[in-house]
Formats: sequence, C-alpha cells, structure tokens
Amino acid sequence: MSTIRSFLRSRWFSRILAGAVIAGVLSLGSVLEPWGTATGPGRLADDGKLHVIFFDVGQGDAALIRTPTGEDILVDGGPDTSVIQKLGAALPKDDRDIELLILTHPHADHLTGLLEILRRYQVRRLMMTGVVHTTDVHESFLKEVRNRDIDTETPRAGEVVSFGETRLEFFWPLEEWSGRRVSETGPGEGGGLNDTSIVFRLVYGQTEVLFMGDATSEVEEELVVSASSTLVSDLLKVGHHGSKYSTSRVFLAAVDPENALISSGKGNSYGHPAYRVIKLLRDAGVRILRTDTHGDILATSDGGKIDIQTENEVLASESGN
Ligand SMILES: [Zn+2]
Repeated sequence: MSTIRSFLRSRWFSRILAGAVIAGVLSLGSVLEPWGTATGPGRLADDGKLHVIFFDVGQGDAALIRTPTGEDILVDGGPDTSVIQKLGAALPKDDRDIELLILTHPHADHLTGLLEILRRYQVRRLMMTGVVHTTDVHESFLKEVRNRDIDTETPRAGEVVSFGETRLEFFWPLEEWSGRRVSETGPGEGGGLNDTSIVFRLVYGQTEVLFMGDATSEVEEELVVSASSTLVSDLLKVGHHGSKYSTSRVFLAAVDPENALISSGKGNSYGHPAYRVIKLLRDAGVRILRTDTHGDILATSDGGKIDIQTENEVLASESGN
C-alpha cells in the first residue's frame, strides 16, 4: 500500500500524469470540428472567406469553391446526381448560377452529376480539355452544353483565372487535347484519360489548395519539373482517389501540404485509397481527410490559414492518420 502511495507521490508518477494530460490535449486537438447539423451539412456562411467543400459523392470527385466575393466554381460532379442535393444545401437558396464549371476529365465518376447541374443551374463558363471520350453520358453532356450555348474554354498550363482576390493557376495539361483521343490502359489503371486531367492551384492570400483530378505520378513527375516552385499548397486534393498510381514521394515533398484530401467511396472495388499512399502521408505528418470516413469536408480560408470542418467526427486512427 505504502509502495503505491509513494509511487503516487513520486516524480515518475507526476511525469506520467503530465504526459497523459498532454497526450489527451493533443488528441483532442486533432479531432476536427464537426460541420452542420444532424440533418446534414449546413449552408455556407456569407462571411467574406473562401470556402471549398469536397462533397462525399461515393467513388468519384465533386468539389465546390465559393469565393469571398460569392462566385461559385464547381469542380467535377461525381458518379451520380447526389451533388444536386449537396450543392442546394450549401448555396444560398436563390443562387442558381455557377460562374465556372471545371470538368477535369470526362470519366463517369467525375462527369455524371454535371448533366443535371447543366439543367438546373445557369453555368456561365465551362472549362474542360475537349479530349474525345465516346460514352453516352459524355455525349449527352456535350449536347447539353451546345444546346445551352455555354462559353467553353480549354485551359492550359500557365493560364491564370481570377475572381477578385481568388486565383486559379493552371498547371496541366501542357498540350491541347481538344478533339484528340487517348488510349486507356484499363480500368483502375494509371495513365490514359486520367493523365489528361486539368490540374490547378487555388490561391487566396497566403493559402493554397492543389486540385489534381485523377492525374497520376507520370503527370506529377512533369509538374515537379515544370511548376516545382509553385506546387506548395496547404491542402492537396490527392490525385486519382488515393490510388497507388498517384502521389509519389518526390511530388509530395514538392507540395509539402498540411492536409491531404482523398475523395473515394466507402468499400470501393478499386481498393482506393492505397495503403502506400496512406503510409506515405502518415509518415510525412500530413493530416489525412477522407470523404469515405469524414463525409463532406469543408475547408475555409481567411487568406491567412485554412480551417477544416467535417461532416462526421472521425478518430485520427480511423482516417489513416
Ligand atoms: Zn476518378
């Protein structure tokens, strides 16, 4: 008994206790602030900040950028129409305009939701590569774009588009893909259409978010050469749903992100995200954000730093951190 009592009074015990308290505070600090209510994500605040929502659309990509001056930029539309409800919940009720729509590449997991977006929203401006892809959903999308007479651009590396103080810097593609075909290397594989993805960095003040589409390490390798000094970003939207074909060590070092966001579906058949990518991010001390566990993920920038809120509270260990 007295041994226990003297242990409790000992310096060792107080050190262990202090360690446990510090560990507790640190782990509390790593729990992300939940966003919205039990009924779903909330409407975006009109607070003069930059907002980016990475929607949980299952196995695919769809993200909304809302600039401090109220312009809406939609990047891809996910594999089904779930983006419609999510967009409606996030935007002001009477907002039916999308100032810029970016289709990174025409694979169905990025494109499908956009068909309905064209029907329900006034899309003012469209950016895509124009690469040939003869699926029904892509043909229908192009037909809808033509019918609505939407301004279409094919951005290339080096272009910059500004909305007030918000800037989009385009890094990829280097070449014109419009009207060209690419050979696919097979489902779930790297390269092919994935490597035609539009890659850009969103910059507001001192904060940056790098959107990789489904670009693989072949593109990353070129970017490290062609754009190395400008790749640095606070948040990396990891290429190709966290597949093993993207996110090389060299590329990650060049981007040096604080947060890495992986958009993939729960229990998807591709095995995304790959263990190698999770381990690489974890070993580099990067916070891992996943739509398959965190749900919708909101990044808010005041120009000085980025705050993250997520739909679901997820323990760091469950997210791969
Ligand atoms: Zn994809």
